[in-house]
Amino acid sequence: MSRPAAPRGTRDLFGDEVRLFRRIEERAADCFRLYGYEELRTPVFENVDLFRRAVGDTTDIVEKEMYVFEDRGGRPLALRPEGTAGVVRAYLEHAWDQSAPVKKLFYSGPMFRAERPQAGRYREFRQTGGEFFGNASPEADAETLLLMRDILAAAGLPKGAATFGVNSLGCAECRPAFRDALRAYLEPKKAGLCENCQRRLVVNPLRVLDCKGDGPALADAPVTTDHLCADCRAHHGRVLELLRAAGLPFAPAPRLVRGLDYYTRTVFEVTAPGLGAQDALGAGGRYDGLVKALGGPDTPAVGFAFGVDRVARALEAQNVPVSGPRRVFIAQTGAGTADAAFRLADELRGEGLWEAAPLAVEVGAPGKSLKSQFRAADGWGAAWVLLVGEDELKKQTVILKDLRAGAQREVPLARAAAAVLETIAAEKPS
Ligand code: AMP
Repeated sequence: MSRPAAPRGTRDLFGDEVRLFRRIEERAADCFRLYGYEELRTPVFENVDLFRRAVGDTTDIVEKEMYVFEDRGGRPLALRPEGTAGVVRAYLEHAWDQSAPVKKLFYSGPMFRAERPQAGRYREFRQTGGEFFGNASPEADAETLLLMRDILAAAGLPKGAATFGVNSLGCAECRPAFRDALRAYLEPKKAGLCENCQRRLVVNPLRVLDCKGDGPALADAPVTTDHLCADCRAHHGRVLELLRAAGLPFAPAPRLVRGLDYYTRTVFEVTAPGLGAQDALGAGGRYDGLVKALGGPDTPAVGFAFGVDRVARALEAQNVPVSGPRRVFIAQTGAGTADAAFRLADELRGEGLWEAAPLAVEVGAPGKSLKSQFRAADGWGAAWVLLVGEDELKKQTVILKDLRAGAQREVPLARAAAAVLETIAAEKPS
């Protein structure tokens, strides 16, 4: 019989990889809190309508990538393809627009899109992101980009391994003129565009600019920043000025667009060159029109999401080390040793609770041969074995064995836990 396999585009996370993911998510959470964000956990599925309205009917996500299903009551639901829609829904549902003029919320969790899987692109992937409501200033946009910079640094990505692209899409005042200019430029080239873009040209011409296939052929297409109204130009100029002053490594990204009307002014993307086609680590922008589009009051907002899988790939590509717990295996052999081994494990785990460096403690099953216990210790990845033997127990000692060095020494049973901790501390790189 063949062994079961996970569905296409999904995968199990384990070993160093899951440690890496946890580190990214934890360091990101620390950074979010540093910037005044609170955590929000929204459901993994929502009413399908929410995404239709928030993400937009003409986007790839809604048109062809959502996992849509009906529950037993016939209610149309969708697995969330992204995080912003749920956060804005919660923001309105809990009337935070009324109780808190400024609200910053962050999230972390799995998202689902039925895309064609490839390296770095999955059908279930994880995002961690934040949404900042109630501040329309360019300072809020610049702060958001610095928060992204800090998350990558806290996760361990070396300086210079990621670059930021920044653009402005203008607003409801100036974007229609840009859209007309773009359409006028694209119309004569229509026959040369991909099928998708020929359709986009009618429904949403901005999206032609970020088409992976056609984009390069549009090198001399009009750019948004040439069509900004005075207010948008001033806003954009101030964002860039703040980023320059902060020393952020960024570049103008005139092709960077978001195809939805509620996106206003600043949009940005972080890429890590060297990751191949899927090199976007995260993206975001200002979306002053979304809260209103979902039935709330006019509320400025800016937000972003990192793809945790992508950040993990970038860290792996840079060989950023991940340390797992220090593993100690307690083996036992001979009459009366089971009690001592059990107590020793309890004591050591008690110490581990307070240890800054995580400790993992495992005990061999009583009655198993020493050989099979050592095999278990090896398979589990133990660095040390504490051997509780019948003869040693009579002397109230145990043997502490360093599996990698092959060395061993006898330590008093009463000091066994302390001896393990001292050994670990001596090993830690200072
Ligand atoms: P988006 O919500 O499309 O703006 O994506 C934000 C970030 O999520 C991207 O920059 C990627 O890092 C990540 N991402 C989006 N789609 C996928 C996917 N299918 N697999 C892995 N990561 C993804």
